[in-house]
Amino acid sequence: MAEVEGGAVMIWRGYRVSEWTCDVLVIGSGLAGLTAAWAAARAGARVLVACKGFAGADGVSPFAGGVVLYLLPEDDEEEFLREHEHLNEGLIHAEVLRRVIRQNASLWQAWGRWGAPLEREMDGSPRRRWLRIGGRSHVPRLVVDSVELMRFLRRLALRSGVRLLEQTCLTGLLKDPAGALAGAVGFRRQDGELVIVRAPAVIVASGGCSWRGAHMGQHNVMGDGYAMAARFGAELASMEFCASYVATCSLFDSHGQCVLAALGGQFRNRLGENILIRHGLPEPAPTHQLALAMILELLEGRGPVRFDLRGISEEERRDWEERFPLVARGLQRTGRDVFAEPVPWFPGFTGSIGGSGGIRWQRLGGWTSIPGLFVAGDAAMRTPITGAGSGITFLNLAWAGVSGLWAGLSAAGWVRGRSAPEPERTDRAIEEGLRETVEPLERRKGPSPRSVLRQLQQVVVDPCVSFLRTREGLQAALSRIREIRREAEGLQARDWHDLACCHEVRHAALVAEAMLASAVVREESRGWHRRLDFPNPGGPVWEVWTAARLQGEGADADFEVWLWPPSSLRAEPPEGADDLLRG
Ligand SMILES: Cc1cc2nc3c(=O)[nH]c(=O)nc-3n(C[C@H](O)[C@H](O)[C@H](O)COP(=O)(O)OP(=O)(O)OC[C@H]3O[C@@H](n4cnc5c(N)ncnc54)[C@H](O)[C@@H]3O)c2cc1C
Repeated sequence: MAEVEGGAVMIWRGYRVSEWTCDVLVIGSGLAGLTAAWAAARAGARVLVACKGFAGADGVSPFAGGVVLYLLPEDDEEEFLREHEHLNEGLIHAEVLRRVIRQNASLWQAWGRWGAPLEREMDGSPRRRWLRIGGRSHVPRLVVDSVELMRFLRRLALRSGVRLLEQTCLTGLLKDPAGALAGAVGFRRQDGELVIVRAPAVIVASGGCSWRGAHMGQHNVMGDGYAMAARFGAELASMEFCASYVATCSLFDSHGQCVLAALGGQFRNRLGENILIRHGLPEPAPTHQLALAMILELLEGRGPVRFDLRGISEEERRDWEERFPLVARGLQRTGRDVFAEPVPWFPGFTGSIGGSGGIRWQRLGGWTSIPGLFVAGDAAMRTPITGAGSGITFLNLAWAGVSGLWAGLSAAGWVRGRSAPEPERTDRAIEEGLRETVEPLERRKGPSPRSVLRQLQQVVVDPCVSFLRTREGLQAALSRIREIRREAEGLQARDWHDLACCHEVRHAALVAEAMLASAVVREESRGWHRRLDFPNPGGPVWEVWTAARLQGEGADADFEVWLWPPSSLRAEPPEGADDLLRG
Protein backbone atom coordinates (compact mmCIF):
# COMPACT_ATOMS: atom_id res chain seq x y z
CA MET A 1 0.00 0.00 0.00
CA ALA A 2 1.31 3.47 -0.90
CA GLU A 3 2.04 5.56 2.17
CA VAL A 4 1.65 9.15 3.19
CA GLU A 5 5.00 10.82 2.72
CA GLY A 6 6.38 13.23 5.16
CA GLY A 7 7.50 14.32 8.51
CA ALA A 8 10.60 15.96 7.05
CA VAL A 9 11.45 18.97 9.14
CA MET A 10 12.85 22.24 7.82
CA ILE A 11 13.32 25.65 9.36
CA TRP A 12 11.35 28.67 8.18
CA ARG A 13 12.08 32.06 9.79
CA GLY A 14 13.31 30.24 12.91
CA TYR A 15 10.25 27.97 13.21
CA ARG A 16 10.39 24.20 12.80
CA VAL A 17 8.11 23.13 9.96
CA SER A 18 7.10 19.56 9.03
CA GLU A 19 5.89 18.77 5.53
CA TRP A 20 3.48 16.05 4.48
CA THR A 21 2.19 14.82 1.14
CA CYS A 22 -0.90 12.69 0.68
CA ASP A 23 -3.80 12.16 -1.70
CA VAL A 24 -6.58 13.03 0.71
CA LEU A 25 -6.27 15.26 3.75
CA VAL A 26 -9.11 14.83 6.25
CA ILE A 27 -9.60 17.69 8.69
CA GLY A 28 -11.11 16.25 11.85
CA SER A 29 -11.20 12.89 13.59
CA GLY A 30 -14.78 12.72 14.82
CA LEU A 31 -17.21 10.13 13.56
CA ALA A 32 -17.35 11.80 10.13
CA GLY A 33 -13.59 12.30 9.78
CA LEU A 34 -12.50 8.81 10.83
CA THR A 35 -15.17 7.19 8.66
CA ALA A 36 -14.16 9.33 5.67
CA ALA A 37 -10.49 8.53 6.23
CA TRP A 38 -11.14 4.81 6.50
CA ALA A 39 -13.32 4.79 3.35
CA ALA A 40 -10.83 6.82 1.30
CA ALA A 41 -7.93 4.61 2.41
CA ARG A 42 -9.88 1.43 1.59
CA ALA A 43 -10.57 2.93 -1.84
CA GLY A 44 -6.81 3.18 -2.41
CA ALA A 45 -5.95 6.75 -1.40
CA ARG A 46 -3.05 7.80 0.82
CA VAL A 47 -4.86 9.51 3.67
CA LEU A 48 -3.72 11.86 6.39
CA VAL A 49 -6.07 12.93 9.21
CA ALA A 50 -5.28 16.16 11.05
CA CYS A 51 -7.11 16.88 14.28
CA LYS A 52 -6.74 19.15 17.25
CA GLY A 53 -6.69 16.45 19.91
CA PHE A 54 -6.20 12.69 20.11
CA ALA A 55 -7.94 11.10 17.13
CA GLY A 56 -11.18 9.50 18.20
CA ALA A 57 -11.24 11.27 21.55
CA ASP A 58 -11.88 14.85 20.51
CA GLY A 59 -14.69 16.73 18.86
CA VAL A 60 -18.21 16.06 20.07
CA SER A 61 -18.54 12.50 18.73
CA PRO A 62 -17.15 10.67 21.80
CA PHE A 63 -19.52 12.65 24.02
CA ALA A 64 -22.69 12.18 21.99
CA GLY A 65 -25.74 10.55 23.54
CA GLY A 66 -25.04 7.59 21.28
CA VAL A 67 -28.60 7.34 20.04
CA VAL A 68 -28.58 6.52 16.32
CA LEU A 69 -31.45 6.11 13.88
CA TYR A 70 -31.70 2.50 12.71
CA LEU A 71 -34.55 2.10 10.26
CA LEU A 72 -34.55 -1.18 8.33
CA PRO A 73 -36.10 -2.00 4.93
CA GLU A 74 -39.09 -3.66 6.65
CA ASP A 75 -39.95 -0.44 8.53
CA ASP A 76 -42.40 2.14 7.27
CA GLU A 77 -39.98 4.64 5.76
CA GLU A 78 -42.73 6.88 4.40
CA GLU A 79 -44.39 7.27 7.79
CA PHE A 80 -41.05 8.15 9.34
CA LEU A 81 -40.41 10.74 6.61
CA ARG A 82 -43.82 12.33 7.11
CA GLU A 83 -43.42 12.65 10.87
CA HIS A 84 -39.85 13.85 10.51
CA GLU A 85 -40.73 16.53 7.93
CA HIS A 86 -43.58 17.74 10.12
CA LEU A 87 -41.53 17.90 13.33
CA ASN A 88 -38.61 19.65 11.68
CA GLU A 89 -40.92 22.20 10.10
CA GLY A 90 -39.99 21.50 6.49
CA LEU A 91 -36.96 21.98 4.24
CA ILE A 92 -36.13 18.27 4.12
CA HIS A 93 -35.11 16.61 0.84
CA ALA A 94 -36.97 13.29 0.94
CA GLU A 95 -34.81 11.49 -1.62
CA VAL A 96 -31.56 12.48 0.09
CA LEU A 97 -32.93 11.41 3.47
CA ARG A 98 -34.13 8.07 2.09
CA ARG A 99 -30.66 7.32 0.74
CA VAL A 100 -29.01 8.32 4.02
CA ILE A 101 -31.38 6.09 6.02
CA ARG A 102 -30.74 3.07 3.80
CA GLN A 103 -26.98 3.51 3.72
CA ASN A 104 -26.98 4.07 7.47
CA ALA A 105 -28.56 0.65 8.06
CA SER A 106 -25.90 -1.17 6.02
CA LEU A 107 -23.10 0.88 7.58
CA TRP A 108 -24.08 -0.07 11.14
CA GLN A 109 -24.65 -3.69 10.15
CA ALA A 110 -21.10 -3.83 8.78
CA TRP A 111 -19.64 -2.08 11.82
CA GLY A 112 -21.60 -4.46 14.04
CA ARG A 113 -20.06 -7.49 12.23
CA TRP A 114 -16.61 -5.99 12.63
CA GLY A 115 -16.96 -5.54 16.39
CA ALA A 116 -18.44 -2.07 16.96
CA PRO A 117 -19.73 -1.60 20.53
CA LEU A 118 -23.49 -2.00 19.97
CA GLU A 119 -26.14 -3.51 22.18
CA ARG A 120 -27.05 -6.86 20.70
CA GLU A 121 -29.90 -9.31 20.64
CA MET A 122 -29.33 -12.99 21.51
CA ASP A 123 -28.76 -13.74 17.79
CA GLY A 124 -26.02 -11.10 17.63
CA SER A 125 -27.99 -8.55 15.58
CA PRO A 126 -27.97 -4.90 16.74
CA ARG A 127 -30.67 -4.32 19.39
CA ARG A 128 -33.21 -1.70 18.42
CA ARG A 129 -34.95 0.53 20.92
CA TRP A 130 -38.18 2.31 20.06
CA LEU A 131 -37.46 5.51 21.95
CA ARG A 132 -39.92 8.35 22.34
CA ILE A 133 -37.57 11.32 22.19
CA GLY A 134 -36.95 14.48 20.21
CA GLY A 135 -40.67 14.72 19.41
CA ARG A 136 -40.82 11.34 17.64
CA SER A 137 -43.61 9.03 18.66
CA HIS A 138 -41.65 5.79 18.19
CA VAL A 139 -38.56 5.54 16.05
CA PRO A 140 -36.18 2.57 16.07
CA ARG A 141 -32.73 3.54 17.27
CA LEU A 142 -29.46 1.96 18.33
CA VAL A 143 -27.90 2.88 21.63
CA VAL A 144 -24.14 3.04 21.20
CA ASP A 145 -21.30 3.64 23.65
CA SER A 146 -19.86 6.68 21.86
CA VAL A 147 -16.47 6.54 23.59
CA GLU A 148 -15.91 2.89 22.60
CA LEU A 149 -17.29 3.50 19.12
CA MET A 150 -14.71 6.19 18.49
CA ARG A 151 -11.92 3.89 19.71
CA PHE A 152 -13.22 1.26 17.32
CA LEU A 153 -13.19 3.75 14.40
CA ARG A 154 -9.68 4.85 15.26
CA ARG A 155 -8.50 1.23 15.07
CA LEU A 156 -10.39 0.71 11.79
CA ALA A 157 -8.76 3.78 10.24
CA LEU A 158 -5.25 2.85 11.42
CA ARG A 159 -5.63 -0.70 10.16
CA SER A 160 -6.54 0.69 6.72
CA GLY A 161 -3.26 2.61 6.55
CA VAL A 162 -4.53 6.05 7.57
CA ARG A 163 -1.85 8.29 9.05
CA LEU A 164 -2.73 10.57 11.96
CA LEU A 165 -1.43 14.06 12.62
CA GLU A 166 -2.74 14.73 16.11
CA GLN A 167 -2.65 17.86 18.28
CA THR A 168 -2.67 19.79 15.02
CA CYS A 169 -4.69 22.89 14.41
CA LEU A 170 -5.08 23.68 10.72
CA THR A 171 -5.49 27.35 9.97
CA GLY A 172 -6.01 27.72 6.24
CA LEU A 173 -6.44 25.92 2.93
CA LEU A 174 -3.75 26.27 0.27
CA LYS A 175 -4.40 27.50 -3.24
CA ASP A 176 -1.92 26.95 -6.06
CA PRO A 177 -1.23 29.78 -8.53
CA ALA A 178 -3.89 28.38 -10.87
CA GLY A 179 -6.44 28.74 -8.06
CA ALA A 180 -6.75 24.99 -7.38
CA LEU A 181 -6.91 23.43 -3.93
CA ALA A 182 -3.45 22.29 -2.89
CA GLY A 183 -3.64 21.27 0.78
CA ALA A 184 -3.55 23.13 4.08
CA VAL A 185 -1.28 24.71 6.67
CA GLY A 186 -1.42 24.84 10.44
CA PHE A 187 0.62 24.05 13.53
CA ARG A 188 1.01 21.61 16.38
CA ARG A 189 0.14 23.36 19.57
CA GLN A 190 2.04 21.08 21.96
CA ASP A 191 5.49 21.41 20.41
CA GLY A 192 5.01 24.60 18.42
CA GLU A 193 5.83 23.08 15.04
CA LEU A 194 4.32 24.49 11.87
CA VAL A 195 2.72 22.00 9.47
CA ILE A 196 2.32 21.97 5.70
CA VAL A 197 0.15 19.31 4.06
CA ARG A 198 0.14 19.03 0.27
CA ALA A 199 -2.93 17.25 -1.02
CA PRO A 200 -5.09 17.50 -4.15
CA ALA A 201 -8.22 16.64 -2.13
CA VAL A 202 -9.36 17.82 1.29
CA ILE A 203 -12.33 16.52 3.25
CA VAL A 204 -13.54 19.05 5.78
CA ALA A 205 -14.92 17.03 8.70
CA SER A 206 -14.04 19.57 11.35
CA GLY A 207 -17.40 19.54 13.13
CA GLY A 208 -19.71 22.46 13.72
CA CYS A 209 -19.45 25.75 15.54
CA SER A 210 -20.67 26.12 19.09
CA TRP A 211 -18.80 29.33 19.91
CA ARG A 212 -17.27 27.35 22.82
CA GLY A 213 -20.54 25.91 24.12
CA ALA A 214 -20.82 24.26 27.51
CA HIS A 215 -20.94 20.57 26.54
CA MET A 216 -17.98 18.24 26.59
CA GLY A 217 -16.05 18.07 23.33
CA GLN A 218 -17.26 21.42 22.08
CA HIS A 219 -14.10 23.35 22.91
CA ASN A 220 -12.47 22.09 19.71
CA VAL A 221 -15.31 22.85 17.32
CA MET A 222 -15.26 26.56 16.61
CA GLY A 223 -16.28 26.65 12.96
CA ASP A 224 -12.70 26.52 11.64
CA GLY A 225 -13.77 24.34 8.72
CA TYR A 226 -16.67 26.63 7.74
CA ALA A 227 -14.40 29.66 7.84
CA MET A 228 -11.45 28.06 6.04
CA ALA A 229 -13.77 26.85 3.29
CA ALA A 230 -15.54 30.23 3.04
CA ARG A 231 -12.22 32.07 2.84
CA PHE A 232 -11.23 29.71 0.04
CA GLY A 233 -14.39 30.60 -1.93
CA ALA A 234 -16.73 27.76 -0.92
CA GLU A 235 -20.32 28.52 -0.02
CA LEU A 236 -22.08 28.08 3.30
CA ALA A 237 -25.74 27.09 3.44
CA SER A 238 -28.69 27.35 5.83
CA MET A 239 -26.60 29.30 8.29
CA GLU A 240 -29.68 30.92 9.86
CA PHE A 241 -30.35 27.52 11.47
CA CYS A 242 -27.14 27.60 13.51
CA ALA A 243 -28.40 28.94 16.86
CA SER A 244 -29.45 25.72 18.55
CA TYR A 245 -29.82 24.72 22.18
CA VAL A 246 -30.27 21.40 23.91
CA ALA A 247 -31.86 20.74 27.32
CA THR A 248 -28.88 20.37 29.63
CA CYS A 249 -28.55 19.32 33.26
CA SER A 250 -26.98 22.07 35.38
CA LEU A 251 -25.00 19.48 37.41
CA PHE A 252 -23.43 17.67 34.55
CA ASP A 253 -23.18 18.42 30.89
CA SER A 254 -22.98 15.16 29.06
CA HIS A 255 -24.71 12.65 26.91
CA GLY A 256 -27.49 10.22 27.73
CA GLN A 257 -29.65 12.89 29.30
CA CYS A 258 -32.15 13.01 26.48
CA VAL A 259 -32.98 9.39 27.16
CA LEU A 260 -34.00 10.36 30.66
CA ALA A 261 -36.68 12.53 29.09
CA ALA A 262 -37.74 9.52 27.04
CA LEU A 263 -38.27 7.56 30.23
CA GLY A 264 -40.93 10.05 31.29
CA GLY A 265 -39.10 12.92 32.98
CA GLN A 266 -40.95 16.24 33.00
CA PHE A 267 -39.70 19.79 32.78
CA ARG A 268 -41.41 21.98 35.41
CA ASN A 269 -41.11 25.70 35.99
CA ARG A 270 -40.82 27.51 39.34
CA LEU A 271 -44.59 27.27 39.75
CA GLY A 272 -44.47 23.51 39.31
CA GLU A 273 -46.18 23.63 35.89
CA ASN A 274 -45.21 21.17 33.17
CA ILE A 275 -43.73 23.60 30.63
CA LEU A 276 -44.69 21.55 27.57
CA ILE A 277 -48.34 21.64 28.61
CA ARG A 278 -48.08 25.34 29.38
CA HIS A 279 -46.78 26.05 25.85
CA GLY A 280 -49.23 23.68 24.17
CA LEU A 281 -46.43 21.40 22.97
CA PRO A 282 -46.58 17.65 22.43
CA GLU A 283 -44.77 15.36 24.84
CA PRO A 284 -42.09 14.52 23.83
CA ALA A 285 -41.47 17.82 22.07
CA PRO A 286 -39.00 18.36 19.22
CA THR A 287 -35.66 19.64 20.52
CA HIS A 288 -36.11 23.16 19.17
CA GLN A 289 -39.60 23.54 20.64
CA LEU A 290 -38.47 22.33 24.07
CA ALA A 291 -35.53 24.76 23.95
CA LEU A 292 -37.82 27.62 22.98
CA ALA A 293 -40.21 26.79 25.83
CA MET A 294 -37.29 26.70 28.31
CA ILE A 295 -35.94 30.02 27.05
CA LEU A 296 -39.34 31.68 27.34
CA GLU A 297 -39.83 30.34 30.88
CA LEU A 298 -36.49 31.84 31.91
CA LEU A 299 -37.07 35.17 30.13
CA GLU A 300 -40.58 35.53 31.56
CA GLY A 301 -39.38 34.95 35.12
CA ARG A 302 -40.72 31.45 35.77
CA GLY A 303 -37.27 29.86 36.05
CA PRO A 304 -35.46 27.83 37.02
CA VAL A 305 -36.82 24.96 35.01
CA ARG A 306 -36.34 21.68 36.89
CA PHE A 307 -36.35 18.19 35.46
CA ASP A 308 -38.61 15.93 37.48
CA LEU A 309 -37.60 12.27 37.26
CA ARG A 310 -39.51 11.10 40.32
CA GLY A 311 -42.04 9.19 38.19
CA ILE A 312 -39.36 6.85 36.83
CA SER A 313 -39.40 3.32 38.20
CA GLU A 314 -36.39 1.63 39.82
CA GLU A 315 -36.25 -0.83 36.95
CA GLU A 316 -36.17 1.89 34.28
CA ARG A 317 -33.52 3.72 36.24
CA ARG A 318 -31.30 0.64 36.51
CA ASP A 319 -31.72 0.00 32.78
CA TRP A 320 -30.66 3.57 31.98
CA GLU A 321 -27.65 3.32 34.32
CA GLU A 322 -26.55 0.17 32.53
CA ARG A 323 -26.92 1.75 29.09
CA PHE A 324 -25.16 4.99 29.98
CA PRO A 325 -22.63 4.05 32.69
CA LEU A 326 -20.39 7.08 32.15
CA VAL A 327 -23.22 9.57 32.59
CA ALA A 328 -24.64 7.63 35.50
CA ARG A 329 -21.24 7.70 37.23
CA GLY A 330 -20.80 11.40 36.49
CA LEU A 331 -24.19 12.20 37.96
CA GLN A 332 -23.46 10.04 41.02
CA ARG A 333 -20.27 12.01 41.65
CA THR A 334 -22.27 15.23 41.97
CA GLY A 335 -23.59 13.81 45.25
CA ARG A 336 -27.21 14.55 44.27
CA ASP A 337 -29.82 11.95 43.41
CA VAL A 338 -31.53 13.47 40.38
CA PHE A 339 -34.14 10.71 40.43
CA ALA A 340 -35.29 11.76 43.90
CA GLU A 341 -34.79 15.52 43.72
CA PRO A 342 -35.65 17.65 40.63
CA VAL A 343 -32.61 19.77 39.70
CA PRO A 344 -32.41 22.80 37.38
CA TRP A 345 -31.86 22.26 33.66
CA PHE A 346 -31.10 24.97 31.15
CA PRO A 347 -31.05 25.39 27.38
CA GLY A 348 -27.35 24.64 26.69
CA PHE A 349 -26.08 26.30 23.53
CA THR A 350 -24.97 23.87 20.80
CA GLY A 351 -24.68 26.32 17.89
CA SER A 352 -24.62 24.64 14.52
CA ILE A 353 -24.16 21.15 16.03
CA GLY A 354 -27.84 20.87 16.85
CA GLY A 355 -28.78 23.09 13.91
CA SER A 356 -28.43 22.40 10.24
CA GLY A 357 -26.18 25.04 8.66
CA GLY A 358 -22.75 24.24 7.25
CA ILE A 359 -20.64 24.10 4.12
CA ARG A 360 -22.86 23.81 1.09
CA TRP A 361 -22.62 20.57 -0.87
CA GLN A 362 -24.32 20.19 -4.20
CA ARG A 363 -24.21 16.46 -4.70
CA LEU A 364 -24.35 13.57 -2.24
CA GLY A 365 -20.82 12.50 -1.50
CA GLY A 366 -19.81 15.87 -0.08
CA TRP A 367 -19.05 17.61 -3.39
CA THR A 368 -18.76 21.36 -2.82
CA SER A 369 -18.44 24.12 -5.41
CA ILE A 370 -14.63 23.87 -5.10
CA PRO A 371 -13.08 21.00 -7.09
CA GLY A 372 -11.28 18.66 -4.68
CA LEU A 373 -13.00 20.06 -1.56
CA PHE A 374 -15.40 17.65 0.12
CA VAL A 375 -17.38 17.94 3.30
CA ALA A 376 -18.90 15.56 5.86
CA GLY A 377 -20.59 15.47 9.28
CA ASP A 378 -21.44 18.63 11.19
CA ALA A 379 -19.16 20.63 8.90
CA ALA A 380 -21.66 20.02 6.09
CA MET A 381 -25.06 21.65 5.69
CA ARG A 382 -27.68 19.22 7.04
CA THR A 383 -30.93 20.90 6.04
CA PRO A 384 -31.77 18.16 3.52
CA ILE A 385 -31.65 15.69 6.44
CA THR A 386 -32.84 17.62 9.47
CA GLY A 387 -34.72 20.49 7.86
CA ALA A 388 -35.11 23.55 10.02
CA GLY A 389 -34.89 21.50 13.23
CA SER A 390 -32.36 19.31 14.98
CA GLY A 391 -30.57 16.06 14.24
CA ILE A 392 -29.34 15.55 17.78
CA THR A 393 -30.75 12.36 19.36
CA PHE A 394 -30.50 10.17 16.29
CA LEU A 395 -29.91 11.66 12.84
CA ASN A 396 -26.66 13.54 13.36
CA LEU A 397 -24.63 10.45 14.12
CA ALA A 398 -26.27 8.63 11.21
CA TRP A 399 -25.38 11.56 8.93
CA ALA A 400 -21.82 11.81 10.28
CA GLY A 401 -21.19 8.14 9.45
CA VAL A 402 -22.90 8.06 6.06
CA SER A 403 -21.64 11.43 4.84
CA GLY A 404 -18.13 10.43 5.97
CA LEU A 405 -18.34 7.15 4.08
CA TRP A 406 -19.52 8.88 0.91
CA ALA A 407 -17.09 11.80 1.14
CA GLY A 408 -14.18 9.34 1.59
CA LEU A 409 -15.21 7.43 -1.54
CA SER A 410 -15.81 10.63 -3.54
CA ALA A 411 -12.45 12.09 -2.58
CA ALA A 412 -10.60 8.84 -3.34
CA GLY A 413 -12.30 8.74 -6.74
CA TRP A 414 -11.43 12.37 -7.42
CA VAL A 415 -7.70 11.95 -6.71
CA ARG A 416 -7.29 8.83 -8.83
CA GLY A 417 -4.83 9.84 -11.53
CA ARG A 418 -4.01 13.17 -9.86
CA SER A 419 -0.96 13.88 -7.77
CA ALA A 420 -0.15 16.30 -4.99
CA PRO A 421 0.74 19.73 -6.37
CA GLU A 422 4.38 20.29 -7.22
CA PRO A 423 6.27 22.20 -4.50
CA GLU A 424 7.10 25.25 -6.62
CA ARG A 425 3.47 25.60 -7.63
CA THR A 426 2.36 26.24 -4.06
CA ASP A 427 5.38 27.85 -2.43
CA ARG A 428 3.97 31.38 -2.40
CA ALA A 429 0.69 30.21 -0.94
CA ILE A 430 2.56 28.23 1.71
CA GLU A 431 4.67 31.24 2.65
CA GLU A 432 1.53 33.34 2.98
CA GLY A 433 -0.32 30.64 4.92
CA LEU A 434 2.52 30.19 7.40
CA ARG A 435 2.92 33.93 7.86
CA GLU A 436 -0.79 34.29 8.58
CA THR A 437 -0.63 31.33 10.99
CA VAL A 438 2.10 32.79 13.21
CA GLU A 439 1.07 36.46 12.94
CA PRO A 440 -0.69 36.60 16.36
CA LEU A 441 2.42 35.12 18.03
CA GLU A 442 4.63 37.83 16.59
CA ARG A 443 2.39 40.75 17.54
CA ARG A 444 3.76 42.93 20.32
CA LYS A 445 0.32 44.00 21.43
CA GLY A 446 -3.32 43.24 20.81
CA PRO A 447 -6.36 41.97 22.68
CA SER A 448 -6.33 38.46 24.14
CA PRO A 449 -8.40 35.88 22.25
CA ARG A 450 -10.38 35.03 25.37
CA SER A 451 -11.58 38.59 25.90
CA VAL A 452 -12.77 38.83 22.29
CA LEU A 453 -14.39 35.39 22.52
CA ARG A 454 -16.45 36.60 25.47
CA GLN A 455 -17.70 39.55 23.42
CA LEU A 456 -18.54 37.22 20.57
CA GLN A 457 -20.46 34.90 22.86
CA GLN A 458 -22.45 37.81 24.25
CA VAL A 459 -23.82 38.43 20.77
CA VAL A 460 -24.26 34.87 19.56
CA VAL A 461 -25.25 32.83 22.60
CA ASP A 462 -27.74 35.35 23.97
CA PRO A 463 -31.13 34.02 22.83
CA CYS A 464 -32.55 37.55 22.70
CA VAL A 465 -30.01 38.42 20.02
CA SER A 466 -29.52 35.32 18.00
CA PHE A 467 -32.67 33.26 18.51
CA LEU A 468 -35.62 35.61 19.09
CA ARG A 469 -34.81 37.70 16.05
CA THR A 470 -35.97 40.94 14.46
CA ARG A 471 -34.56 42.74 11.45
CA GLU A 472 -33.32 45.63 13.64
CA GLY A 473 -31.84 43.28 16.24
CA LEU A 474 -30.07 41.26 13.57
CA GLN A 475 -28.68 44.38 11.86
CA ALA A 476 -27.38 45.68 15.18
CA ALA A 477 -25.82 42.29 15.98
CA LEU A 478 -24.23 42.19 12.52
CA SER A 479 -22.59 45.59 13.04
CA ARG A 480 -21.28 44.43 16.41
CA ILE A 481 -19.93 41.20 14.89
CA ARG A 482 -18.16 43.16 12.17
CA GLU A 483 -16.41 45.22 14.85
CA ILE A 484 -15.47 42.01 16.69
CA ARG A 485 -14.18 40.51 13.47
CA ARG A 486 -11.91 43.49 12.93
CA GLU A 487 -10.69 43.17 16.51
CA ALA A 488 -10.11 39.45 15.98
CA GLU A 489 -7.75 40.27 13.09
CA GLY A 490 -5.40 41.94 15.59
CA LEU A 491 -5.31 39.33 18.37
CA GLN A 492 -2.13 38.63 20.25
CA ALA A 493 -1.09 35.10 21.25
CA ARG A 494 1.14 34.54 24.29
CA ASP A 495 1.93 30.93 23.42
CA TRP A 496 0.96 28.16 20.99
CA HIS A 497 -2.21 27.25 22.90
CA ASP A 498 -3.28 30.87 22.79
CA LEU A 499 -2.49 30.84 19.07
CA ALA A 500 -5.08 28.10 18.52
CA CYS A 501 -7.60 30.23 20.36
CA CYS A 502 -6.75 33.28 18.18
CA HIS A 503 -7.51 31.36 14.98
CA GLU A 504 -10.65 29.87 16.48
CA VAL A 505 -12.00 33.26 17.51
CA ARG A 506 -11.26 34.68 14.07
CA HIS A 507 -13.06 31.78 12.43
CA ALA A 508 -16.00 31.77 14.85
CA ALA A 509 -16.55 35.50 14.28
CA LEU A 510 -16.77 34.91 10.54
CA VAL A 511 -19.26 32.09 11.08
CA ALA A 512 -21.37 34.34 13.32
CA GLU A 513 -21.51 36.87 10.54
CA ALA A 514 -22.66 34.25 8.03
CA MET A 515 -25.36 33.15 10.48
CA LEU A 516 -26.72 36.64 11.12
CA ALA A 517 -26.54 37.70 7.45
CA SER A 518 -28.52 34.59 6.45
CA ALA A 519 -31.02 35.19 9.26
CA VAL A 520 -31.75 38.69 7.94
CA VAL A 521 -32.75 37.25 4.58
CA ARG A 522 -35.17 34.55 5.82
CA GLU A 523 -38.35 36.47 6.60
CA GLU A 524 -40.33 33.77 8.37
CA SER A 525 -40.11 31.56 11.49
CA ARG A 526 -39.46 27.83 11.51
CA GLY A 527 -37.26 25.44 13.45
CA TRP A 528 -34.25 27.16 14.94
CA HIS A 529 -34.97 30.39 13.08
CA ARG A 530 -37.41 32.56 15.08
CA ARG A 531 -38.29 36.00 13.71
CA LEU A 532 -40.47 38.05 16.06
CA ASP A 533 -41.27 40.33 13.08
CA PHE A 534 -42.27 37.32 10.92
CA PRO A 535 -43.65 34.91 13.54
CA ASN A 536 -45.15 32.30 11.17
CA PRO A 537 -43.75 29.89 8.61
CA GLY A 538 -43.74 31.67 5.28
CA GLY A 539 -45.40 28.92 3.23
CA PRO A 540 -44.25 27.48 -0.11
CA VAL A 541 -42.32 30.60 -1.10
CA TRP A 542 -39.83 29.81 1.67
CA GLU A 543 -39.39 26.11 0.82
CA VAL A 544 -35.87 27.07 -0.27
CA TRP A 545 -32.47 27.10 1.38
CA THR A 546 -30.12 30.04 1.79
CA ALA A 547 -26.52 30.10 0.61
CA ALA A 548 -23.84 32.58 1.66
CA ARG A 549 -20.57 33.42 -0.08
CA LEU A 550 -17.79 35.63 1.26
CA GLN A 551 -17.04 38.58 -1.02
CA GLY A 552 -13.86 40.60 -0.70
CA GLU A 553 -10.72 40.19 1.37
CA GLY A 554 -9.70 40.41 5.01
CA ALA A 555 -11.74 42.13 7.70
CA ASP A 556 -13.83 44.05 5.14
CA ALA A 557 -15.13 40.92 3.38
CA ASP A 558 -18.90 40.51 3.53
CA PHE A 559 -21.38 37.68 2.96
CA GLU A 560 -23.65 37.76 -0.04
CA VAL A 561 -26.75 35.65 0.69
CA TRP A 562 -29.14 34.17 -1.86
CA LEU A 563 -31.84 31.50 -2.05
CA TRP A 564 -31.60 28.16 -3.84
CA PRO A 565 -34.16 25.44 -4.48
CA PRO A 566 -33.89 21.85 -3.19
CA SER A 567 -34.51 20.64 -6.75
CA SER A 568 -30.97 21.64 -7.73
CA LEU A 569 -29.41 19.15 -5.30
CA ARG A 570 -28.08 15.92 -6.83
CA ALA A 571 -29.11 12.94 -4.74
CA GLU A 572 -26.91 10.17 -6.22
CA PRO A 573 -24.25 8.98 -3.78
CA PRO A 574 -20.86 7.75 -5.03
CA GLU A 575 -20.46 4.13 -6.06
CA GLY A 576 -18.55 1.57 -4.07
CA ALA A 577 -20.11 1.90 -0.61
CA ASP A 578 -21.89 -1.43 -0.67
CA ASP A 579 -18.78 -3.29 -1.87
CA LEU A 580 -16.75 -1.71 0.88
CA LEU A 581 -19.33 -2.65 3.53
CA ARG A 582 -19.56 -6.23 2.30
CA GLY A 583 -15.81 -6.69 2.83
C1 LIG B 1 -24.37 16.92 24.09
C2 LIG B 1 -24.56 16.31 22.74
C3 LIG B 1 -25.22 15.09 22.61
C4 LIG B 1 -25.43 14.55 21.34
N1 LIG B 1 -26.08 13.37 21.23
C5 LIG B 1 -26.36 12.86 20.01
C6 LIG B 1 -27.07 11.64 19.87
O1 LIG B 1 -27.42 10.99 20.84
N2 LIG B 1 -27.38 11.22 18.61
C7 LIG B 1 -27.01 11.92 17.50
O2 LIG B 1 -27.32 11.49 16.39
N3 LIG B 1 -26.27 13.05 17.61
C8 LIG B 1 -25.94 13.53 18.82
N4 LIG B 1 -25.20 14.67 18.93
C9 LIG B 1 -24.63 15.25 17.72
C10 LIG B 1 -23.40 14.42 17.24
O3 LIG B 1 -22.59 14.14 18.34
C11 LIG B 1 -22.59 15.19 16.19
O4 LIG B 1 -23.44 15.64 15.17
C12 LIG B 1 -21.50 14.32 15.55
O5 LIG B 1 -20.79 13.62 16.52
C13 LIG B 1 -20.56 15.18 14.72
O6 LIG B 1 -19.46 14.44 14.28
P1 LIG B 1 -18.33 15.13 13.39
O7 LIG B 1 -17.35 14.08 13.08
O8 LIG B 1 -18.94 15.87 12.27
O9 LIG B 1 -17.67 16.26 14.32
P2 LIG B 1 -16.85 16.15 15.70
O10 LIG B 1 -17.02 14.86 16.38
O11 LIG B 1 -17.18 17.38 16.45
O12 LIG B 1 -15.33 16.21 15.23
C14 LIG B 1 -14.71 17.40 14.81
C15 LIG B 1 -13.23 17.14 14.60
O13 LIG B 1 -12.67 18.25 13.89
C16 LIG B 1 -11.43 18.59 14.48
N5 LIG B 1 -11.12 19.98 14.15
C17 LIG B 1 -11.91 21.07 14.28
N6 LIG B 1 -11.25 22.17 13.84
C18 LIG B 1 -10.03 21.74 13.41
C19 LIG B 1 -8.88 22.39 12.87
N7 LIG B 1 -8.85 23.72 12.68
N8 LIG B 1 -7.79 21.65 12.57
C20 LIG B 1 -7.78 20.30 12.77
N9 LIG B 1 -8.84 19.64 13.28
C21 LIG B 1 -9.94 20.35 13.60
C22 LIG B 1 -11.66 18.33 15.97
O14 LIG B 1 -10.41 18.23 16.61
C23 LIG B 1 -12.42 16.99 15.87
O15 LIG B 1 -11.50 15.96 15.69
C24 LIG B 1 -24.95 15.23 20.19
C25 LIG B 1 -24.26 16.43 20.32
C26 LIG B 1 -24.06 16.98 21.58
C27 LIG B 1 -23.33 18.27 21.69
